[in-house]
Amino acid sequence: METITSRRDIRKLKLDELKEFFVQHGEKPFRAQQVYEWLWMKSAKNFEQMTNISLPLRDMLKEHFVINHIKVDNMQRSTDGTIKNAVTLHDGLIVESVLIPTEKRITACVSSQVGCSLACKFCATARLKRQRNLSPDEIYDQVVAIKEQAELFFGRPLTNIVFMGMGEPLLNYANVTEAIEKITNQKGLGMANKRITVSTVGIAKMIIKMADDGVKFNLAVSLHAALDKTRSSIMPINDSNPLAELGDALRYWYQKTKRNVTYEYVVWKGINDTEEHARALLKFCKIIPSKVNLIEYNPIDDGAFQQASDETLNMYMHLLESNGITTRIRKSRGKDIDAACGQLANKG
Ligand code: SAH
Repeated sequence: METITSRRDIRKLKLDELKEFFVQHGEKPFRAQQVYEWLWMKSAKNFEQMTNISLPLRDMLKEHFVINHIKVDNMQRSTDGTIKNAVTLHDGLIVESVLIPTEKRITACVSSQVGCSLACKFCATARLKRQRNLSPDEIYDQVVAIKEQAELFFGRPLTNIVFMGMGEPLLNYANVTEAIEKITNQKGLGMANKRITVSTVGIAKMIIKMADDGVKFNLAVSLHAALDKTRSSIMPINDSNPLAELGDALRYWYQKTKRNVTYEYVVWKGINDTEEHARALLKFCKIIPSKVNLIEYNPIDDGAFQQASDETLNMYMHLLESNGITTRIRKSRGKDIDAACGQLANKG
């Protein structure tokens, strides 16, 4: 009989704790090292896979532990090659993660929370109540699943990771940084920090904390407006976390890390499509070295927001570029399967 409640999730144990467990059960500590490698580096989904561990020892592990691996239950493929995974967590909750293939890269876009608490008016995820934070292993598993799909469907390695799925990574900072530590560790997935980007709504005090912690991954801020009145009208977080505070935090980030920031910015008809808005963005971009991604808007059913015209985008582009700010227009991927930015809402 399985007594589910008494068995712990083995991946919640640190290596030292695992060693202690092995020693207490009369085993050599190096066995813990081997099991740890199976759990992280080789992403084992069950104890049977651990072939260099004796059968009696595997049975003993099964008596005490479970591996709460995520399950990719529904995989949808876009006509442009993008893959969206609906991922079921051990408690039955669902998040989504996306594989985005381009000529040179394969990017994993991962979720950090189930739902989101931020209520940005243009984002579909905002309509799902925030239920809980994802654990480090649940974040790690999303990356592993996409890495396996990259190899299986494209015959290419995963090259980049962006925290641009569901949720606000800086409101789940401890787990996100722990996951990144495992993703970058040679005893984990061994990926480079410079291939990882954390995207945030711009929580000032967390940006300061990241700077103090000396994190090595890239920072992206979803700006969308550089005038407080406009930003507050579409992103409620801006009321308690206004642009001046965000600017100060970014200044601190740059002083400490010497690393730049990328701003994500959608231009909408009647919302932020004037020259005054573009000039405000340019001014904000001068606070620290930065780049701008003008993201295409992905409609989310109600029609309140509409993508600005090409002419307006060109106005932004010209103003920024002629003032030395690198600006790219980012076309959406995976729109047909609701896999594009801001469309993740567990609809599949
Ligand atoms: N909470 C983090 C991570 C989400 S990233 C953040 O705010 O950065 C998702 C990105 O898609 C953000 O830049 C977000 O502002 C943007 N986005 C949200 N809804 C969108 C939509 N409908 N169309 C295009 N981009 C959208």
